[in-house]
Amino acid sequence: MSNNSFRLRVSVDQSVCVGAGLCVLSTSEVFDQRDEDGVVKLLQASPDEALYEKVLGASRKCPSKAIKVEKVADNAEPHGNAQ
Ligand code: SF4
Repeated sequence: MSNNSFRLRVSVDQSVCVGAGLCVLSTSEVFDQRDEDGVVKLLQASPDEALYEKVLGASRKCPSKAIKVEKVADNAEPHGNAQ
């Protein structure tokens, strides 16, 4: 059991994205590209924490530093069994 519950918060800056597509190649669950110009599209702003390493890797590889990812505490604990 763990009380260290957190969620991911991902954001992208489309104004600096150069459309290299590395984020989509590594983490297609979270990122896509616009058909017209290849600029990044964010599919999930709060992906599952299991994707943290992949999103972090995408952020580090992004040539224009357009991707931000942070862990935020998940204080909204549900009542009862959350299995
Ligand atoms: S890796 Fe960076 S520059 Fe390339 S498409 Fe993704 S956000 Fe844009």
